[in-house]
Amino acid sequence: MKYVYLFHEGNAGMKNLLGGKGANLAEMTGLGMPVPPGFTVTTEACTRYYADGRKISGDIIAQIEEALATCEKNAGKRFGDVENPYLVSVRSGARASMPGMMDTILNLGLNDQTVIGLARLTGNERFAYDSYRRFIQMFSDVVMEISKHSFETILQSVKDSAGVKLDSELSADYLKEVVKQYKELYRKEKGEDFPQEPKLQLMEAIKAVFRSWDNPRAIVYRRINDIPGDWGTAVNVQAMVFGNMGDDSGTGVAFTRDPSTGEKRLYGEFLMNAQGEDVVAGIRTPQPISSLANANASVYEQFESIAQKLENHYRDMQDMEFTIERGRLYMLQTRSGKRTAAAALKIAVDLVAEGMISKEDALMKIDPKQLDSLLHPTFESKALKAAKPITKGLPASPGAACGKVYFTAERVAEVAKDNPCILVRTETSPEDIEGMHAAQGILTARGGMTSHAAVVARGMGTCCVAGCSELMIDEAKKQFVCDGKTYVEGDWLSLDGSTGNVYGEALPTVEASFSGDFQTIMQWADDIRTLKVRTNADTPRDAETAVRFGAEGIGLCRTEHMFFDEERIASMREMIVSKSEEQRKAALNKLLPMQREDFKGIYKEMGGRPVTIRFLDPPLHEFLPQQDKDIAALADEMNIPFEELAHTVSELHEMNPMLGHRGCRLAVTYPEIAEMQTRAVIEAAIEVMREEGLSILPEIMIPLVGEVKELEYVKNVVTKTAEKVMEECGVKIDYLVGTMIEIPRAALTADEIAFTADFFSFGTNDLTQMTFGFSRDDAGKFLDEYYAKKIYESDPFSRVDQKGVGRLMELAVKLGRQAKPELKLGICGEHGGDPSSVTFCHDLGLDYVSCSPYRVPIARLAAAQAKIMEAEAGSAVGQR
Ligand code: PEP
Ligand code: MG
Repeated sequence: MKYVYLFHEGNAGMKNLLGGKGANLAEMTGLGMPVPPGFTVTTEACTRYYADGRKISGDIIAQIEEALATCEKNAGKRFGDVENPYLVSVRSGARASMPGMMDTILNLGLNDQTVIGLARLTGNERFAYDSYRRFIQMFSDVVMEISKHSFETILQSVKDSAGVKLDSELSADYLKEVVKQYKELYRKEKGEDFPQEPKLQLMEAIKAVFRSWDNPRAIVYRRINDIPGDWGTAVNVQAMVFGNMGDDSGTGVAFTRDPSTGEKRLYGEFLMNAQGEDVVAGIRTPQPISSLANANASVYEQFESIAQKLENHYRDMQDMEFTIERGRLYMLQTRSGKRTAAAALKIAVDLVAEGMISKEDALMKIDPKQLDSLLHPTFESKALKAAKPITKGLPASPGAACGKVYFTAERVAEVAKDNPCILVRTETSPEDIEGMHAAQGILTARGGMTSHAAVVARGMGTCCVAGCSELMIDEAKKQFVCDGKTYVEGDWLSLDGSTGNVYGEALPTVEASFSGDFQTIMQWADDIRTLKVRTNADTPRDAETAVRFGAEGIGLCRTEHMFFDEERIASMREMIVSKSEEQRKAALNKLLPMQREDFKGIYKEMGGRPVTIRFLDPPLHEFLPQQDKDIAALADEMNIPFEELAHTVSELHEMNPMLGHRGCRLAVTYPEIAEMQTRAVIEAAIEVMREEGLSILPEIMIPLVGEVKELEYVKNVVTKTAEKVMEECGVKIDYLVGTMIEIPRAALTADEIAFTADFFSFGTNDLTQMTFGFSRDDAGKFLDEYYAKKIYESDPFSRVDQKGVGRLMELAVKLGRQAKPELKLGICGEHGGDPSSVTFCHDLGLDYVSCSPYRVPIARLAAAQAKIMEAEAGSAVGQR
């Protein structure tokens, strides 16, 4: 088996095997671009490494050595040769780009001897020792896991004693001193000398890249981005070119279009006399790419032309890394660039207009989850005008964020559930990923537009202000000083990721408004998709938002949410503690007009679109007062003794309420609840038809059915009541009665249930809970351990577990449609707004998905992508 490919042996189509970086390096090589030669160790080698118990097997080692020998021969240099040392970079590259997740080692091959050779060869001792100290630090950090921090402390102290500010101002002698101290630190930490044998350095580096595939932050990143754990990462070993050889050398990163706005212009940064890490790490402030034209006009022209060629070739915005070594340009990477949601839409629409891609390609280029960031609020313009920024940084990732200040990612991850948080850091690093994801916004004191914080935040659609150098952060003391004021943990801060402004107060936000590009993309998606998108909405306000976002109906109106209102809960409680049917009916009669008004409001807002109303579902005790003072107040109001009510409340206590007296069981035991709700549904529909001339087709949905007879019983109550109401009103209207499929037994007996149901809606929240047998409310407490131990890769409550829960769904679809071909099928669990689950629902042949209002656009796009993927798979089969 072939585990190692030279760059000229591969191409862009081999991404799965060579990883994104490796495949694109191979492609650029094939296009005749100036790429330093090298080879890629495949993702299969990584998977094999894990299969072999974290070892690189002999045959892979042999292939690596062979590829290395070829590269050495072509370069006319040798690894470890003091006269003419061959030096390489080692970089990871997974199939999907995982920025900051995997690590890079530069200048590998240097040791105490080759550094002397390098100095002699280049006539530049300063450069040689600068390269060596960088290598020692990177190798120690990435391979040996010695903290970067200790190295930085050494570097700083040598800079202090040299009386210089910048690394590039250190002379060769001072750099030698740095190297000496670094090696001492290494020896102290590891109990052995820094490894001198280049081949050993290389094998250790490759292993470290493989290992890093499974580090905790990579696991978190994969979970957030739906990347399977068994893909593995490739490793690229490439001849070094040096951006730190002097003032005619440099390094940079650039995009073919602006990744924040999508505007068509070369966008990026570079630094002269620097190595790659300097630009991304944000230690020195880089210059805009346009000024490269002044530094070296011909290199700039060449780069511009390569950039254009690459964009035309890949038909997408490219993110490129380059190095200039003594006035010669080298390309080190190209990939489809990460971009903000707004930029993604603009670029997709522009590329179609430029005739580069089709509408289908354009839709496939946009990550549905990213749309989220467009739909979220911005600052209220009046408040924004009145507010005075305390400082300004780089507008690294747009949006508005308002939250409380926290100084570590761990703290943010801890408190973000209950508090909006702003993560404030000197600079972020990959281990901060979870906190960055949980934060509303990210503020850093260091780093440019391509720093870790900026790149990662843009990818996540999280607002970020980077490189805010006026902040004096004391992470240990958990405070920062800005504009003469000290801010501590918990203080409010607002960030404007579009301007870079930072405000020392909480600013109000307003709803997002959509650009023309958004509407264009949504229109294209709607033209293509066949899966309908509804929303889960319990109020006219939610319904209005959802319709604005393109919802085609309501797939779930949870009626219980309507009863938590202060005015209503008392009647609800009365109903629950009633001792007789009469008492219960009296309480329900108080609720009826309120419920009818709710439904009228929703019908009106939906303007004749289908509305699915689910009958009362939660365990009744959720409505009951729990504390003595509340029980006393209710007893007072109901005019019954405290003890009596306290007794009733304790009687209603259940050991396991989620599996208790809830769902259709409520209507079975208290049919008058279903009667009242049916009356409200039908009366509201008739009134709205009369008042607004709308035609309404209510869909009544019975929850938590596990046995067809339960449904038959409740349906009978519904039908009888509906007939009665229609007779009273003197009109006949159509309505449907369907059920949720959220108990495994319902899925298993779906053929029986389909005879009685007009529709099924998969309640995948409960279906997941009951299929896995763990509580949807408690699973969060242990699921993290499951991810860490790779038992589960993703949260089954966010993504449909296709193997188990999905199988039950598939069975229910099959059985249901066998029994009733016209059976309408939908999903209303949280999964309805998750892109991969939407694809699954499309493939299952559901009629619609239903999700929260803000996820409606995500589902619309995901549904279109599902259709496109289906068509592509179909035509691939056709070609075979
Ligand atoms: C479900 O169980 O998936 C569902 C939509 O109902 P709820 O979340 O209200 O239990
Ligand atoms: Mg449910």
